[in-house]
Amino acid sequence: MSTRSCPRGDEKLNRRRAACFGLVVALITATDGHVTTSSAEPSASAKAAANASDRDEAQEGKAPADKGRGQIDADTGQKKAGTESLRRELLSGKVVLLQDALKRRGIRATAEMKDQAVLETDSGDLVPLVSDWRGRAFFQDKRLRDRRVDLVGMRRPGIPYFQVLMIFTFDEQGDRQYMDYWCDICSIPMYEIKPCDCCQADIRLRFQPRDLPEYIRKPNP
Ligand SMILES: [Zn+2]
Repeated sequence: MSTRSCPRGDEKLNRRRAACFGLVVALITATDGHVTTSSAEPSASAKAAANASDRDEAQEGKAPADKGRGQIDADTGQKKAGTESLRRELLSGKVVLLQDALKRRGIRATAEMKDQAVLETDSGDLVPLVSDWRGRAFFQDKRLRDRRVDLVGMRRPGIPYFQVLMIFTFDEQGDRQYMDYWCDICSIPMYEIKPCDCCQADIRLRFQPRDLPEYIRKPNP
């Protein structure tokens, strides 16, 4: 994936950036800082607004008691109805492709299974990942596979698939890094490989030093 820096003085791009910023401001203003969207997939502006107001995943996983501000999942931009009681958990290991993982266990699976991404946990369990707005990156981007990761996410009763909410990797020094994709032109985060939601330019893989969210570090008893 190529990266693209912001070419100063390029009027067209600056206009696009201004348009993005306008969207964000309008959205924040219109919603009094609370991001709302009814679409299944969060819009770029909702994501950007979430980021701009520094809510990001900090909002994610707040206890249901935190009613006033905790009603919107800032990471997904969706109402948290129905997921409030689902507990966020931390799973650690490496993400690999299912066919390879099965092969190492002496199970030969046909090609139909080869693209399923699974977390191979530290204890050797295989946990299949849902390919959704966040988990999809593991299916798309082999740079995220076969390396140590911490995944914050959730499982629903009766469903073995893990829904990823936050992805952490580790740099060469072993320091924890939060992973997303970033558009240098529009300064907005995205979570899967695609043209920028706003300017359509290429986005780049980004790692930032960041700790686990507090609700994982200090779970309620
Ligand atoms: Zn952009």
